[in-house]
Amino acid sequence: MTAKAEPTPNDSRAVYLDHHATTPCDPRVVNAMLPFFTSAFGNASSSHAWGRAASDHVEKARAAVAKLLGCEPSEIVFTSGATEADNLALLGVMEHASRRGRHVITQQTEHKAVLDTCAELERRGFEVTYLTVDADGRVKSDQLADAIRHDTALVSIMWANNEIGVVQPIPEISDICRAEGVLLHTDAAQALTYLDCDVQAAGVDLMSISGHKIYGPKGIGALYVRKTRPRARLQAQMHGGGHERGRRSGTLDVPSIVGLGVACDLIAERRENDSARALELRRRLQQRLATAFPDLRVNGCLTHRLPNNLNVSLPGIDSRDLIEQLEDVAISSGSACSSAGQDGSYVLAALPGAKDLADNSLRFGIGRSTTEADIDLAVSRIQAAARIAARMPARSQECGVPA
Ligand SMILES: *Cc1c(COP(=O)(O)O)cnc(C)c1O
Repeated sequence: MTAKAEPTPNDSRAVYLDHHATTPCDPRVVNAMLPFFTSAFGNASSSHAWGRAASDHVEKARAAVAKLLGCEPSEIVFTSGATEADNLALLGVMEHASRRGRHVITQQTEHKAVLDTCAELERRGFEVTYLTVDADGRVKSDQLADAIRHDTALVSIMWANNEIGVVQPIPEISDICRAEGVLLHTDAAQALTYLDCDVQAAGVDLMSISGHKIYGPKGIGALYVRKTRPRARLQAQMHGGGHERGRRSGTLDVPSIVGLGVACDLIAERRENDSARALELRRRLQQRLATAFPDLRVNGCLTHRLPNNLNVSLPGIDSRDLIEQLEDVAISSGSACSSAGQDGSYVLAALPGAKDLADNSLRFGIGRSTTEADIDLAVSRIQAAARIAARMPARSQECGVPA
């Protein structure tokens, strides 16, 4: 096999359409962070001037995050990302509630940060119900209502899916949870850039967000924890020093927290425009792909969907073969053996009618810097790669070690 040129951010030929995996830091985010590595390096817990300066900026960032989420700053707990926020929400709430409630409800297409944490809850003796999704990829509220038991303490349903972009009916789900007195957690890592994720309007009690999905730094995120009506109580999962009001110990990562705050400010400024722009580009992408591949199938519903997401299956073309042939376009496959060596697309497997073409699926994630020319270039390169991939022998059903 011939070696492909490594695409670099400066390579004008490279097209990045994988913004569900991660986004670049906005330059304003980076600039705001820089002083906190060097001159303003204080520990936010120190009581001297260096510490107070750091802590002032942490609180400013906390207020920015809270403003975007529509909550009080004291309801924000900084974490290392959405994975930790999901862990803290699920393990923290269930361990606190363990005497009264030992049952959690989630659904099959959650991110692994939720599903793997649910598996850990099961190992610890809790019970988990995994709701199915319909052909659109959405949870049915009547199924949720039927699944709630007297000992259900928590429902965790993601706001928007990271593979198929499908948006769950969070306000409807909240109504059911409220009526039954059950707490609602949502993973909003993908939703926050494009949708209004106001925790009051939606009636959410705990919500996870991630810095690097919203043009902020990697390794930072937050969990919103409702203080009143109802109060969400949780057991800390990280011990040592009682930071974050005892909910998450550890010296605060001041530069990243500052960066997260600026990323949230930028979302408030740009969300409407970004959403409209992404939707236009998504429509263009879908149209061009449908012209190039007349038998193309879209996975998940198009109406309740993140504007920047498209997930399609190309019948007869293995997406792993296609991506191997693809030059300078970053997209991801939802094949049974993903390149990261994980379990593959359990999301498409859970979607009625999508499972048969899961190995033929491609995920596109449009971003702030994506242009019409990027879309056109990506489609023509995909067409060229598909021509080669279509001639390749079918892969065996077994998952080999990813190349
Ligand atoms: C990326 C992502 C996560 C994990 O976030 P990290 O900050 O990388 O830990 C969790 N949930 C969803 C839906 C995501 O897209």
